[in-house]
Amino acid sequence: MASGDGLVVRVRPPLGQLSAAQAQRLAELAEAHGAGLLELTSRANIQLRGVAPDQHSSLLDALAAQGLLDPDARQEQLRNLVIDPLCAPDDGVLALAEALQQALVADTALDGLPAKFGFSLASGRHGGMAEVAADVQLVRDGTQGWRLQVPGQPVAWQAHSATLTVQAALVLARWCAAQARARRAAGEHPGRLPQLLRQAQAQPGAWPLLALPAGLREVPSYLPADGSPAPGWQCGLGLLVAAPLGRVTAGALARLARSGIRSLRLTPWRMLLVEGLAPSGSAVLAAAGLDDPAHWIRDPQDARLRVSACSGAPGCRQALAPTQDLALALARHVPDGAHLHVSGCAKGCARQLPSTVTLVAQAGPDGPVFGYARDATAQAAPDSRWSARSLRDNPGLMFEEI
Ligand code: SF4
Repeated sequence: MASGDGLVVRVRPPLGQLSAAQAQRLAELAEAHGAGLLELTSRANIQLRGVAPDQHSSLLDALAAQGLLDPDARQEQLRNLVIDPLCAPDDGVLALAEALQQALVADTALDGLPAKFGFSLASGRHGGMAEVAADVQLVRDGTQGWRLQVPGQPVAWQAHSATLTVQAALVLARWCAAQARARRAAGEHPGRLPQLLRQAQAQPGAWPLLALPAGLREVPSYLPADGSPAPGWQCGLGLLVAAPLGRVTAGALARLARSGIRSLRLTPWRMLLVEGLAPSGSAVLAAAGLDDPAHWIRDPQDARLRVSACSGAPGCRQALAPTQDLALALARHVPDGAHLHVSGCAKGCARQLPSTVTLVAQAGPDGPVFGYARDATAQAAPDSRWSARSLRDNPGLMFEEI
């Protein structure tokens, strides 16, 4: 993908995991072929920024040599699974993800799926997966197996085994692919599964729409939604660390990867789960560079966790103003429990969820200004407009009455 600072190359590691060796190589590649910067995305991917077009193909070869590149774009698209990084070794989440991934890639009836069609796989043990956008949520249901749920549908389907879960997931995906193909043929946008299901259900006599496999049980839809996990030790799993605005320098990643860790799990919260570290003292953290607040956030009260920003100018060609410095400058004024998102344009690609305050860069008569909206996404009509300077001079005004 082309951007203002060169190409952005997205890496979707298998099962959302990077070995220490892969992480170290990725850092080296970001330094050698890009701008030395990696971004953690809200879909648990990691992307290299600032790649020069003439470096692209050698970068892809190097990623392939590390097992970090799919054989083709179809497989990369179908492998759009966001896997709960806090799943336990024995809860079956990773095994289900592997089985689903293989089944999706082998299924020729899925051609034409909307480009962003994706699954989330949740352990059901915390609320962090509720904010992950997905067409189908697969949720571990205690000892009862799995729940398949489509956001917006009050009823979920409970499957007693991973095999049945994969079969049902494929039925949903095939139905969505068929709908998308028909809509494209009619000159329409392919849509997303939740919206397509709602539209189809509104047709008289439309039910049953889906030829789901036998053995499923209808149950109420449910996914815990008590917010993203905070940085800190995760019992039996490792250390969850955030990067300011989800940006990691190649040097910081390389140092972490070389420090004796086992692996990293990517998360949809712009954090990394560091596996193979024990909470045995500050020397371990210092060796990994994790004690450096310029690169990593370990304190759950760190104000930078309360802000997000897209690339903004000059990194993104669509951006109407810089975003990241402004977000970091305003972070300490964001009240506990609130969230500020700064977007370089109304596309809002760095955050789909509403924020307590969203600032969106717009063209103004004397230069860029920021549209201000409360409890809204970047697409919302702003309540007022502020210059970057007045925002910096009067940060408290943004959060009055909150
Ligand atoms: S929201 Fe707009 S400015 Fe920001 S990264 Fe996306 S396209 Fe670029």
